[in-house]
Amino acid sequence: MTARIIDGRAIAAQVLEEVRKGVFELRAAGLVPRLATVLVGEDPASRAYVGNKRRTCEQVGIESVHHQLPASTPGEALLELVRELNEDPGVHGILVQLPLPRGVDTQAVIEAIDPAKDVDGFHPVNLGRLVAGLETFVSCTPAGILELIHRSGFETRGRHVVIVGRSNIVGKPLMNLLVQKSPTADATVTVCHSGTRDLAEHTRRADILVAAVGRPHLIGADMVRSGAVVVDVGINRVADAQAPRGHRLVGDVDFEAVRRRAAAITPVPGGVGPMTVAMLMVNTLKAARRAAGL
Ligand code: NAD
Repeated sequence: MTARIIDGRAIAAQVLEEVRKGVFELRAAGLVPRLATVLVGEDPASRAYVGNKRRTCEQVGIESVHHQLPASTPGEALLELVRELNEDPGVHGILVQLPLPRGVDTQAVIEAIDPAKDVDGFHPVNLGRLVAGLETFVSCTPAGILELIHRSGFETRGRHVVIVGRSNIVGKPLMNLLVQKSPTADATVTVCHSGTRDLAEHTRRADILVAAVGRPHLIGADMVRSGAVVVDVGINRVADAQAPRGHRLVGDVDFEAVRRRAAAITPVPGGVGPMTVAMLMVNTLKAARRAAGL
């Protein structure tokens, strides 16, 4: 068997086209959706992520306003900026790029963001609403993973989904999305993590396997059931003398080996990554619509 490769860029382009139409309608009604981006420090990966998010805003007609702060910014100054953005009726979504420099209380910053503008879906109010099955902002990577699966023609209802990784931004919200009683969820979910014994025993039972760990090649072919759908969330830099920058990006899955066993697989790059950015646009449009009472 050779797996179908799920094209995250193409599916993200579909989602972005839908967002673009929604933004166009809002603009026609006189409302410009606006996302405030905040970057503390000069970390090159974070700069690239924020740059990508802002370019995508431009592509769909969302205005982005960037706030660049020095790495030495005291936590209180960052909290003050977040409060100002909360108060600004022209700002519909607030994105504080993580990770924040050491010494800044990340959780305090997340909790300072108005839940109605929390387009990353990290605020405990939004996480709690997700657990309770209420309308909320779902964090972008888990929301993007579900879109990828469904738009590729796979169902989650009645399937056994095994998630490897229990972070607050991927594993836990994805688990909570998937267990909801709804046609686009309704899965049986197993969550594995660093404390799991015999990981392979669990992963081999997955109809849908999601790897979100951050370890290159953690998931080998012997850990995947024949015919499974494999979603690789990991983004890992590995040295590669042939690559122009001396490194390349790989996921958590041994792509070449697993593609010979799985029914479908997402590549890295070009799988989950583009969906994460697309879902940020979906959430920002939703925040702007809500602010307008729509
Ligand atoms: P994290 O570091 O917060 O969590 C990693 C998780 O992996 C932990 O829950 C830990 O328990 C688990 N783990 C560690 N070693 C393990 C092992 N040997 N067996 C089983 N589980 C193990 O990571 P995160 O923020 O969720 O990110 C995970 C990966 O996904 C990273 O590579 C990150 O770069 C990537 N990521 C990608 C996107 C995207 O848009 N594509 C978004 C977010 C994160």
